[in-house]
Amino acid sequence: MESLFARSFDSIAEILGLEKRFQARIVYQNLIKGVVGFDQMTSLPKSERERLCAAFGTALSSKVIRKDEDGDAVKLAVLLDDGSIVECVRLSDGKGRYTACLSSQVGCAMGCAFCKTGTMGLVRNLTAGEIVEELLHLEMLGERISHIVYMGMGEALTNFTALIDSAEEIHREDGFNISFRKMTVSTCGYVPGIRRLSELDLPIRLAVSLVSADDATRSSIMKVNRSFPLAELKQAIEAYQHRQDRRITLEYCLLGSVNTGKESADKLRSFMKGLDAVVNIIPWNPVEGLPFSSPDDAEIRRFESYLRAAGVPYTIRREKGRGISGACGQLASETRRDDSGIRP
Ligand code: SF4
Repeated sequence: MESLFARSFDSIAEILGLEKRFQARIVYQNLIKGVVGFDQMTSLPKSERERLCAAFGTALSSKVIRKDEDGDAVKLAVLLDDGSIVECVRLSDGKGRYTACLSSQVGCAMGCAFCKTGTMGLVRNLTAGEIVEELLHLEMLGERISHIVYMGMGEALTNFTALIDSAEEIHREDGFNISFRKMTVSTCGYVPGIRRLSELDLPIRLAVSLVSADDATRSSIMKVNRSFPLAELKQAIEAYQHRQDRRITLEYCLLGSVNTGKESADKLRSFMKGLDAVVNIIPWNPVEGLPFSSPDDAEIRRFESYLRAAGVPYTIRREKGRGISGACGQLASETRRDDSGIRP
């Protein structure tokens, strides 16, 4: 079955073969609360419940097939209707704030050299409904989620329509009711997508995975830079800030001996000139088979001292979820497609 999220009540009624539109609303209201079995939707007539149960089983198009926990992070592997698998993560700040990190694609075409997802290639785009179902699965773990980051598998800005439709669905007052301001879209620097996002005038935050402010280094690690080099990227960020007036985050994945020198910090400062941005330092998480190393503590501290000397505002993310491969750049389905014959 297709996902029932991110569509009109008429469309839900059509998929489920409901004669009355208000019954689609009942189904939706149940879904939002995590009541996904038609047999539990007691405001529907018994005969309708029985018919829907027999025809569809549950009101979801996907199901969780694996859950891993590591401290404040919980990662779910989600089996989609066509047998593809994506991963999503719930992160807690330990003070009651829960953030959902959602995937937008199965795999990714961008091929960033430090990223596990990039090794998969692009299998397919997710639909808006499938993205929203990731959020529902994470909420069904039992805590209300207040923040969304599109930072899981995939380059969300290359699946633009589904991204925006899912954000609008998550924003719905009669749905998850999460403000656009609490949503962040992360991009590797896909300039046409940043420009499109700017033009929408939605107050969605932007995070750009920069990794290096040197064109040659960046192009060798991130293919996207060969098409959209730093000068173009900066212009697109400036245009976004002109429309949105919001501080952006520059994600800086710290790769041992690659982008940790003083020169790297100085180039970062030059790139940030004129931007309202903060750098988020993320020491690289080891991924088997990829030709990088994690910086050790001394290298991290040294780079921090260069940033301070250069006057670059930064935060440093001590990774949550490293033990479950749920940290940045580590999401990738062990299997691209499920061959077990299991379907939701
Ligand atoms: S870092 Fe993001 S854009 Fe780059 S390959 Fe990984 S998922 Fe794709």
